[in-house]
Amino acid sequence: MTSLQRNLIDGRWVDGPRRENWNPARPTEVVSEFAIADPEQAREAAAAARRAQAAWESSGVGSRSAVLARVGQLLHDEREPLAHLLTSEEGKLLGEARAEVTRAAQTFYYYAHQILAPSGELYDSQRPGVRAEVRRRPHGVVGLITPWNFPVAIPAWKMAPALAYGNTVVLKPAELTPASTTRLVEIMVAAGVPAGVVNLVNGPGAEVGGAVVGSTDVDAVSFTGSVDVGREVAQACLSRGNKRFQLEMGGSNPLLVLADADLATAVRCAVDGAYGSTGQRCTATSRIFVERTRYDQVAEAIATAAVQLRPGHPADPASELGPLVSASQHREFRVAIDGAQAAGAVVLAGAGEPDLEGHFAWPTLLAGASAADQLAREEVFGPAAAIVPVDDLDDGIAQANATHFGLSASVVTSSAHAAEEFARRSNAGIVSVNLSTAATEFHLPFGGRGSSNHGPREQGTHAKDFYTVPVTHYSAWGHGG
Ligand code: NAD
Repeated sequence: MTSLQRNLIDGRWVDGPRRENWNPARPTEVVSEFAIADPEQAREAAAAARRAQAAWESSGVGSRSAVLARVGQLLHDEREPLAHLLTSEEGKLLGEARAEVTRAAQTFYYYAHQILAPSGELYDSQRPGVRAEVRRRPHGVVGLITPWNFPVAIPAWKMAPALAYGNTVVLKPAELTPASTTRLVEIMVAAGVPAGVVNLVNGPGAEVGGAVVGSTDVDAVSFTGSVDVGREVAQACLSRGNKRFQLEMGGSNPLLVLADADLATAVRCAVDGAYGSTGQRCTATSRIFVERTRYDQVAEAIATAAVQLRPGHPADPASELGPLVSASQHREFRVAIDGAQAAGAVVLAGAGEPDLEGHFAWPTLLAGASAADQLAREEVFGPAAAIVPVDDLDDGIAQANATHFGLSASVVTSSAHAAEEFARRSNAGIVSVNLSTAATEFHLPFGGRGSSNHGPREQGTHAKDFYTVPVTHYSAWGHGG
């Protein structure tokens, strides 16, 4: 039996034209039916968020903190069914889905406590008798546009700080994964989030997402997704009232393995980075650079580990690699790999397709500079990486930085000096040493540089920089001014 997901507008679950979404591991199996909203409903949702905002803000940090903590608790309680839904809808391994739900719960707990921390700044004014302070105020209504690859964690890491700091929200999730995000919102309603404070509108990006971004009731927009759509969102924000916006976008993340690297660490970092979550992470490793004297050994060891990974149904504990999320994503992946081969890349692992129902691909390792160049320009959102020899640390850093993206970068080395040099000269927003490029922790800032990002960091204490506006407040009581 399939479930039905509806849109949430002003506390009411609203039906609409129905669509189905399918299990990427069993493409004939319908996971759920969901109602799509139209642009007018997106604007109604924004208007409802506007009406609810003042009361939510003035309900106070004690009350907002209690609601957010209850969301965290319910997410913990509901972890198993939500993880299974996420696995069947998005295709990630059950262990990865459980970790995603746990992270979402922790994010709500974190912001439940974070808003109780000291806030604001006091200054001595240049004018005698005047008191000067900087207060943090919410924007009002925030539009949130999210991708399909973390349909629980990303909406959570946007909604938790948005609500904590007194904003209300209109959320437009990705079309491929509406069920998991809708379940998250149902849990928030069950935890006591008042009517209008969170609104949810499903539907096509340009139409429904565009209506959210364009609504005069939306004051700021936080977007996570591809670079091209991010740029459209930015243009729309600038042309519709100069709204504040924050964009987190794609990556082409490098792993540099130096001659003094521990082999097992290098292989672990490469395999986790390139093939974890089927490569469908913005922080996935897509380019591996190895110092020339160790290249053959490291390339062979990574290829050997890659071919041993077992693709299979993501709910089966024996599976090590889930499917790609959809037929079109699978097609695009195939086209990119075929294109790389046609341009001269040598396949060290991953030729052909697994004999499985569903959108499965083999973990793929491509040798050759042309493949690295291709993956530096465009994001191949699937289990593939290019591997290339480099001369030394300087050459490795130069090649790692040879991309317009700048999200995450890692180095494997036993030299603290080389690690520091890499960290200092990398153009990425996240740098790791002897660890995979796939890194995010809810209490630390997350975000990229270059085409990967625009605006303040997400998560941790830095989220406050986006979800609040600093207001400079002068006051004179008595003889000041
Ligand atoms: P996408 O850009 O296609 O879509 C993202 C969201 O934008 C979806 O909800 C979509 O419906 C909506 N959208 C599409 N057109 C729109 C428009 N004109 N106006 C408003 N909204 C619109 O991305 P995707 O395929 O869902 O997700 C994969 C991408 O997300 C990859 O590029 C990946 O790197 C990126 N991503 C980045 C991060 C990060 O934090 N840096 C995290 C996860 C995913």
